[in-house]
Amino acid sequence: MHMKRRLVAAGVALGVAAATTGAAALTAQADPAAPSPAAAEPVTWTVDGLSQTEVAELEQLGFDVAHDHGGEAQIIGDQAVADDLRALGHDPEFFDTVYKDVAATAQQEGTYYGGYRTVDAIEAHLQDVAAAHPSLARLYDIGDSWLKTQGEGGHDIYAVCVTAIAAGDCEQDPDSTKPRFSLIAQIHAREIATGEIALRWIDDLVAGYGTDAATTDLLDTTEVWVVPVVNPDGVDIVASGGDDPVLQRKNANDSAGNCGARLGVDLNRNSSYEWGADSTNPCAETYQGTTAASEPETRAVEEWLRALHPDQRGEAEDDPAPADARDVFVTLHSYGEYIIIPWGYTENAAPNDARLRALGEAMAESNGYLVGTNGDTVGYSTSGTTDDMAYGELGVAAFTFEVSPDFGNCGGFLPAFSCVEDTLWPENRGALMTAAQAAAAPYAG
Ligand SMILES: [Zn+2]
Repeated sequence: MHMKRRLVAAGVALGVAAATTGAAALTAQADPAAPSPAAAEPVTWTVDGLSQTEVAELEQLGFDVAHDHGGEAQIIGDQAVADDLRALGHDPEFFDTVYKDVAATAQQEGTYYGGYRTVDAIEAHLQDVAAAHPSLARLYDIGDSWLKTQGEGGHDIYAVCVTAIAAGDCEQDPDSTKPRFSLIAQIHAREIATGEIALRWIDDLVAGYGTDAATTDLLDTTEVWVVPVVNPDGVDIVASGGDDPVLQRKNANDSAGNCGARLGVDLNRNSSYEWGADSTNPCAETYQGTTAASEPETRAVEEWLRALHPDQRGEAEDDPAPADARDVFVTLHSYGEYIIIPWGYTENAAPNDARLRALGEAMAESNGYLVGTNGDTVGYSTSGTTDDMAYGELGVAAFTFEVSPDFGNCGGFLPAFSCVEDTLWPENRGALMTAAQAAAAPYAG
């Protein structure tokens, strides 16, 4: 068991919430020395009847609001966190465990929590794929993680281009011969199934070329680009918990200080398009950073997207991408079983709303997810997200997948590893194929 770490994490988080917001009532409730070991286990609580403003206030206070749907928020924390919610007048009810059963098999080298791969193992796998399939896959270093920029270890961030490589293919230049589908995963480190799904997509493509007709046709006509782990420093923190993964969402930027286990910038609130309406509390899970694209991971992904996708959309919020625009982008997140379309930053409909919904519905034929805007799905607005940047700046048809259900063994941020192979990958394979096949003309029809 790893109860000591959890106790420390909970105490630090609550201390920070009180210190940075002046919510003195919280301090009286936070007593990290007192709870029994069972009470220190982080679980998911539901709180009903919240307004959007109240949800935002809880986030700003430092509560880990994992999910919100129609005023029912799901908040992660231990018994002390539930007590803090009660002190604020809420009525949290136990919803589900965060940690699922881990098979009692010997841990394989390079894995954690029943089989999820570490960053080092993922990097080694990507090198292997590129070496084994030189005519189909090419590996690129697109930038550094925050720790690497500080000279404190860290990682390069890798992108793989997969296509039947002809002269001029797989170059980081938006003037490409083939249309492009780009995919990113694990920008939120603790959404651990997403990186595994991205890796399976790469493996499936290189294995299927020449044997599977749809895959062969796709790779003959389209470049598929994948960044399986946008936030490798965060994933290192997650994996450091072993069978009790640390619930690190953000990157490892600790320059704001005093956040303890809640360090980092939310890389999906740090993008440059319409940045700046999210959390200003450095210890909140949705902390947006000090400036637009302040984080090296954000800049790496944005520069990579600009190098892949031509700028096809006008500057105004209501300028549509033209009907003959190309390219599709998907960012994999957890959880809730949604396919979310722009905009995130405003409740106004995106100018290509009808076509974005139609393509989302075509993807949902495979995974069964609910298609819609933030307002239609998760119920909260967001600013500085990658999908708003890809669509807003470049006109790429952009989608957020929220993979895995709300609860159960395959639900939440930490599904049992067997769920990846049994349900999460199979149900999303077809959705990703539909997205990639639409890269030539996502807005046509
Ligand atoms: Zn996420």
